[in-house]
Amino acid sequence: MTTILGYREQPLRTESEDNEIEYDYHSRSYIFSPIKETPRGAIVTAAVMMCEECGTAIKSMGGPGHRCYCLRCYDALKLFDFAEGHEHEITGN
Ligand SMILES: [Zn+2]
Repeated sequence: MTTILGYREQPLRTESEDNEIEYDYHSRSYIFSPIKETPRGAIVTAAVMMCEECGTAIKSMGGPGHRCYCLRCYDALKLFDFAEGHEHEITGN
C-alpha cells in the first residue's frame, strides 16, 4: 500500500476563447491529488517538496511543487474551505 504524504492542489483548468486548455495558477481549483511516496527507481527532481502552509518537508524528492500541503495542513485547509462553501474534489493523480 502506498502511503499518502500530503495533497497537492491542481491549477484551475480553463478554456480560452479558441477552446485551448489553459491553467490559471493564481486561482483556486479545489481539486486535489494525493502526494504519494516516490516508487523506487523512479526518476524525479531532486528537490525537497515542502508544505505551502507550514514549511514541513513532505518528501525529499519531487519538489519544490506548487500548492502542496502536508496532511495536517490539508485537513485544516479542507475545513476552512468547507466553511467558506467549497468542497474538495480528490482525483487519482
Ligand atoms: Zn503543513
